[in-house]
Amino acid sequence: MPTFEFQTVPTIHMEWSGAARLGERLASHFPARRLLLVTDMGLVKAGLIAPIVADLKANGFAVTVFDAVTADPPERILHACVQSARQESSDIVLGLGGGSSLDVAKLAAVLLASTGQSLSDMYGIGKVESSRLPLALVPTTSGTGSEVTNISIITTGETTKMGVVSPQLYADYVLLDAALTVGLPQLHTAATGIDAMVHAIEAYTSRHRKNPLSDALAREALRLLTANLVPACRDGNNRDAREGMLLGAMLAGQAFSNAPVAAVHALAYPLGGHYHVPHGLSNALMLGPVLRFNAKAAAPLYAELADVIAAPVRSADRARDFVDALQALMDESGAPRRLRDVGVEENGLALLASEAMKQTRLLVNNPVEVTEADALRLYQEAH
Ligand SMILES: [Zn+2]
Repeated sequence: MPTFEFQTVPTIHMEWSGAARLGERLASHFPARRLLLVTDMGLVKAGLIAPIVADLKANGFAVTVFDAVTADPPERILHACVQSARQESSDIVLGLGGGSSLDVAKLAAVLLASTGQSLSDMYGIGKVESSRLPLALVPTTSGTGSEVTNISIITTGETTKMGVVSPQLYADYVLLDAALTVGLPQLHTAATGIDAMVHAIEAYTSRHRKNPLSDALAREALRLLTANLVPACRDGNNRDAREGMLLGAMLAGQAFSNAPVAAVHALAYPLGGHYHVPHGLSNALMLGPVLRFNAKAAAPLYAELADVIAAPVRSADRARDFVDALQALMDESGAPRRLRDVGVEENGLALLASEAMKQTRLLVNNPVEVTEADALRLYQEAH
C-alpha cells in the first residue's frame, strides 16, 4: 500500500430542494450571522436567489449579496467582492453558483481574514498564510467540483488563468441540491458534465498523489457521470440523472483535489483566456486528442476505466474501447466537438500552445511529457 494523504471538506449534505432550508442549516452549523452571498446575475434573474435570501434573513442572517461574478472571474471582481463584504463587516461567506462563484467565494473568505498577504502572493501551491472566514458552498452546476476542492482559478491580466491551491480553500459545509441544476440548458449540462468526467480521468491517471481513495472516488464518479450524462442532457427534469451528475461531479472533485488534473486542463485554460470558451467546453474539446496522446503511458489505466464505464467491447484493446466510448458519449451529449466550431482560428493555435506551456502546475501531473510542439499538434488535432 502506498503512503498517502487525503483531504476533503468535513460536512457534505445532499438533499433535493435542500436550498429551501439553507438558512436553518447554516444557522445551526455556524455562529456567525453577517453573511456575504457570492453569486452571479444570471441566477438572480432566474429567481433562484431571492427565496434563499429571504430564508436566510428569516433565520437571523444579515445578508449582503454580491452578484457580479462572471465566467473566468478576473482579479478585479474578487477585489470588488471583498470590498463590499468589508463595508458590511461580513463574518461568514456563502458561495452559490457555478465554479466561478464558488472560486470567488473561497478566495474572498481567505482575503477577508488575511492580515495583509496580497492575492498575487497566494498563486501557486500552499502559499496562503492566513486562515479564512467560515465558508459554505452550494453548487448549481454538475461540473467543476469546486465545492470540495482546495483550488480557486482566477484570470490575471487579460488572458492568463492562475490557481491558488491551499488547504484553507476547503469549505466548512457543502450542500448538494440537484434541484438547483434543473434549469441548466443542455449545452451547459453537457459541457460541465464532461469537465467532471475529465476530472475523474485525469485524477485516475495523475502522475502525482494518485492513491487508493482518489482512485475509488474517481471510478465511482466516472461510473455515475457516464451513466447519467446523456439522460440529463435529453431531459433536464430527470431527477435521478441530475442527482447522479451532481454526486458524480462532487466525487470527481474530491478525487482531483487530491490527485491533481493534468494536460487536458493545461490545454483547456488558454481557450478560456483567449476565446472565452467556457471551462467545461474547453475540456470537452481537448479530451479526445489528449486521451489518445496519453495512451502510450496510460493505456493500462484506461483499460481499467473501460470496465468501470462498461464500455462496449469493440477491439482487443480495452484502452481504445474506453476512448471510443467516451467519444461516442460526447457526440451524443450534443456538445460542440471541434475548436473551429467555437470560433478558434487555425492561426491562433501556436499562441495557445505557448500559453499552455505556462500551466506547469498541471503539466507535471500528465502521464506523458507534453512539449510545446506536442501541444500544437494536440490543438491541431482538436481543430
Ligand atoms: Zn475542470
